[in-house]
Amino acid sequence: MTSDKITIVEAPQGESGTGYFATNLDKAIGLARKNSLWPLPFATSCCGIEFMATMSPHYDLARFGMERLSFSPRQADLLMVMGTIAKKMGPILQEVYVQMAEPRWVIAVGACASSGGIFDTYSVLQGIDRVIPVDVYVPGCPPRPEQIINGIIKIQELVHNESGRRRYSPEYKELLAKYGIE
Ligand code: SF4
Repeated sequence: MTSDKITIVEAPQGESGTGYFATNLDKAIGLARKNSLWPLPFATSCCGIEFMATMSPHYDLARFGMERLSFSPRQADLLMVMGTIAKKMGPILQEVYVQMAEPRWVIAVGACASSGGIFDTYSVLQGIDRVIPVDVYVPGCPPRPEQIINGIIKIQELVHNESGRRRYSPEYKELLAKYGIE
């Protein structure tokens, strides 16, 4: 696809005048983080294939500053869980989450990751929010790449508007404590 249009990232809200522009640190950091997320794809089954399509040239996730996938939790800030998660995989998923540095965000991609999907059985986790906090849920079995991209845009909105102090708040610590995460 060729295009002679140049996309200019919108400046954060602030004060401007001749020769100057001022904003606050939270907004500047939010803008940078939003456009440079490093996702960790935790893909266990069919939804992972949709993610591969989302990465491919037709949908091109690189447009969102996300061409750099990380398979090390320590170098990722967006955990994308795609596929059926067995109960015995729950502690492993939580361990991956814990190894990610703050700030970190989570997307549950597809019905299985969000709620267990069609697998209402003894062995399948009925949603990854039983073991880790989730920021955005993407419905579908499987979701189309457009839906995954929509989920990523929602995450970008969260990242852009999140206060730098949120991770130190008592509410956030309380949320993690519910999952047994310090
Ligand atoms: S939601 Fe559907 S497509 Fe995705 S992993 Fe589950 S069964 Fe497969």
